[in-house]
Amino acid sequence: MRSIISLQARNCFRSATRWNYGLPCKAVRWSSTETRQWSTPLAKQLSEAITATGPIPLAAFMRMCLTSDLGGYYMSKQEDRDQFGQKGDFITSPEISQVFGELIGIWFVAEWMAQGRKSKGVELVEIGPGRGTLMDDMLRTIRNFKPMASSIEAIYLVEASPSLRDAQKKLLCGDAPMIETSIGHQSTSKYANLPVIWTENIRFVPSGKNSGIMCTARSDSIADAERSPFIVAHEFFDALPIHAFQSIGPSDSAQSSIQTPTGSHTLSPEAAKSTQAKGPQWRELVISPTPPGATHTELHTSESQKSSNPPPEFRLTLSKAATPHSLYLPEISPRYRALKSAPDSLIEISPESHAYAQEFARRIGGSNDHPKPRPSGAAIILDYGPADTIPTNSLRGIREHKRVSPLSAPGLVDLSADVDFVALAEAALGASPGVEVHGPVEQGSFLLGMGIRERAEILMNGLGGDREKRERVESSWNRLVDRGGSGMGKVYKAMAIVPESGGKRRPVGFGGDVST
Ligand code: SAH
Repeated sequence: MRSIISLQARNCFRSATRWNYGLPCKAVRWSSTETRQWSTPLAKQLSEAITATGPIPLAAFMRMCLTSDLGGYYMSKQEDRDQFGQKGDFITSPEISQVFGELIGIWFVAEWMAQGRKSKGVELVEIGPGRGTLMDDMLRTIRNFKPMASSIEAIYLVEASPSLRDAQKKLLCGDAPMIETSIGHQSTSKYANLPVIWTENIRFVPSGKNSGIMCTARSDSIADAERSPFIVAHEFFDALPIHAFQSIGPSDSAQSSIQTPTGSHTLSPEAAKSTQAKGPQWRELVISPTPPGATHTELHTSESQKSSNPPPEFRLTLSKAATPHSLYLPEISPRYRALKSAPDSLIEISPESHAYAQEFARRIGGSNDHPKPRPSGAAIILDYGPADTIPTNSLRGIREHKRVSPLSAPGLVDLSADVDFVALAEAALGASPGVEVHGPVEQGSFLLGMGIRERAEILMNGLGGDREKRERVESSWNRLVDRGGSGMGKVYKAMAIVPESGGKRRPVGFGGDVST
């Protein structure tokens, strides 16, 4: 995880003063990209694209940095570098302790039992599986619950990175062949001969809308109403692109000129008048290259990010005019609208995250267009972010377990942002009448409720007199639930989307018991 992040220092921009965002973009020399030395080919490509089109939304920058074919962070070859673990850039809960994945597996077993122990149609779906460790620990655990194990028809893994897909295949399928299919790739699980199917987006996982897609999975034959998807997304949502907006108050003065890639242009009196804000408005934070030779001081780089790093090559500025996103996104929820009239409010919105949460909800609970007579399945989302507020200034960059500027070395720095759990809950509830949402609850309380202490004790007892190993198990599980310092128990949260029960049933870990 980005678990190196301490509570005080999690947000790279928090230490930057707010007005730093609002600085008008100091005239960048648009023709300068040819001669400038860029840190990565992706930096050069981004700069050239911005030269041609003007500043781009933060979301577009983030998407390119993480998943561009030209050296996006997650797209690099596995042999070149490994993002995870001590030698990588960050470490995640499943990589810290096997108990984490085992308890997620047990959570699914408990949901499957509570929903009437269906004997077929169960699908395990993981979004952003990293090295595949979480799914491997889950499958090993679920294997011990024979009736559930035999109800599983297929395992779906949604993964953008070809190299991580290869790592997942190796771990989950061993030497079994991997074939290309119409929706992605497919192999066979080493555990139960089950099809393991990779797609690049959840939209390609067969469902009510797209079950016509040719697919070699056994689940092709399942009627949509009988599908029970059990979905996990761990540290996936924080990697999805965010848009950032700041509210501005009404202005008395109109803008007399605009800057475009072809230079400065004087506006006609009518056009100038239309730039004058009559009421409060949202403005989008956009990315542009820093002027060549700009220093850390000029760029207001925070102390913690300066170290020996060169000044970032890109910066965020406030767009002078409305963008298509600023006219639309901050208006979609009363939570954002309530802040519009408070000047200088900052908000982050991740429409791709909303789309994923909607997709989870529709698959579990059906939608108005594709009703599901009996909602079934469950989704659990584990990630970091505030419990009930809208994230602000939360974009951060991590490289080799250190915080660095997220606007430096595109493709070499892991970018992530706080997850807006309430926005995910709103999106899920709005998408399906057949689901309810529980949480978010702190990861510590979720894991303790799931019996992490007891499970770790069993594991330690099995290690006999090996003190070193016992201590490692002990410190690992403690780190997952610890609420202070570099612990992950408080900052990380868990949220569940389950079939609507009229509030009669709470999932285990969210205040409920295992019901059989
Ligand atoms: N869940 C894993 C990995 C978290 S890192 C763990 O906890 O260890 C994020 C994962 O999401 C990686 O597997 C990455 O390749 C994948 N990912 C990031 N952005 C994605 C996107 N837009 N679509 C699909 N997968 C993505």
